[in-house]
Amino acid sequence: MLLSRYFLPVLKENPAEAQIASHRLMLRAGMIKQSSAGIYSWLPLGFKILRKLENIVHEEQVRAGHIPMLMPTLQSADLWRESGRYEAYGQEMLRIKDRHERDMLYGPTNEELITDIFRTHVGSYKDLPMTLYHIQWKFRDEIRPRFGVMRGREFFMKDGYNFDVDHDSALHAYNRHLVSYLRTYERMGLQAIPMRADSGPIGGVDTHEFLVLADTGESEVFYDSAITDLKIGDRDVDYDSYEDCATVLKEWTTPYARTDETHDDALFDAIPQERQRKSRGIEVGQIFYFGTKYSEAMGATVVSESGERVPVHMGSHGIGVSRLIGAIIEASHDENGIIWPEGVTPFHCGIVNLKQGDSETNAACDALYNGLRALGLDPLYDDRKERAGGKFATMDLIGLPWRITVGPRGLNNGVVELTSRRTGHSQEMPVETALERVVAIYASH
Ligand code: ATP
Ligand code: MG
Repeated sequence: MLLSRYFLPVLKENPAEAQIASHRLMLRAGMIKQSSAGIYSWLPLGFKILRKLENIVHEEQVRAGHIPMLMPTLQSADLWRESGRYEAYGQEMLRIKDRHERDMLYGPTNEELITDIFRTHVGSYKDLPMTLYHIQWKFRDEIRPRFGVMRGREFFMKDGYNFDVDHDSALHAYNRHLVSYLRTYERMGLQAIPMRADSGPIGGVDTHEFLVLADTGESEVFYDSAITDLKIGDRDVDYDSYEDCATVLKEWTTPYARTDETHDDALFDAIPQERQRKSRGIEVGQIFYFGTKYSEAMGATVVSESGERVPVHMGSHGIGVSRLIGAIIEASHDENGIIWPEGVTPFHCGIVNLKQGDSETNAACDALYNGLRALGLDPLYDDRKERAGGKFATMDLIGLPWRITVGPRGLNNGVVELTSRRTGHSQEMPVETALERVVAIYASH
């Protein structure tokens, strides 16, 4: 993308309404614009990152064997009356009447809708196990929307639902989700720690929240520092193997890690003192096993192998896709702006032309720009007639992990400069070497 043709409305001043870094930086980097309390337009840069995260979530869900679909944002109240949640959900649910005075609602989650689809079309254990998911906008009329996309009213969420014939099979689905979530967050450059949690209005018997550690997080968390050493990396986990998934779950749930809702002083005190950590965290996902709560209420049954009709065992699993953008920024920024991890960066590399219009710098920048694109990368070329300082400030603010700076003095010596946004470290090298370096960096992302 040529910056001169892009729409990147960066702000010079810090917006007064933003209390935390991620909100401030998203506004300043021209990623979002508030349209009303807790509801945002996603400007091109913000939208690009949202799509990237969505793709990572899709890839990891499909890899785990889960099936993508799409359900509507608007739902009929009737299904929610069947489960008993129409009244129970309270004021967070946005209730709407259509022209025929029928009660509708903007979905805060989808257990009822998916259970209805399931009971209509599935009747035998032979069709199980099955996990369906979608990534769709949700609405919760939060009493205090704040911190930008972190606690919005309208937000983008992946929600998945597993259907299993019995408890053991549903447990495998739970474990499988835990593994796929760990992978998802790691690809985004995040460490999200699964913590035993409270099930809230979804209801259920087993649940873990995934928390990213950050001072600005809304949850208070207590954990054994040993858990922060764990990594999924590229280890081979067979998602169809109960054993493989259960092993990962055991590894991640053995060190103590709980939110304040389930915190237990005695268990915490049993951890060696030097490993006890109290901190704050941002909830970026949650998995639930709730058994037959919805299937019994709504009559979602299957015929089991022994010929009996049994209510199906279910769980639901959510990832806060739009909140994740805020969480990534909270975990990765400095005083000059955002620092995107390579796995989610909106553009792979920035190109800064220090003397726009000069035939040599223009030619070198064009060669880099076209070269990177030909190799499948997506560079952002600042081809504006701006002062160098302004160009650097914009690049630092929007946080591309790599920048190539092209100026007449360097070109006289046959070099350009490759700079890491994270370390600030710069290295001079010929144009072709810079290109190869950037390609090599992204070969693993
Ligand atoms: P919270 O405790 O933060 O209100 P929740 O536990 O009610 O969230 P879930 O029902 O578990 O939310 O939804 C799954 C994920 O959706 C959450 O882990 C979170 O990342 C995201 N999410 C929930 N509410 C919001 C919101 N108001 N704005 C942005 N993301 C949200
Ligand atoms: Mg939750």
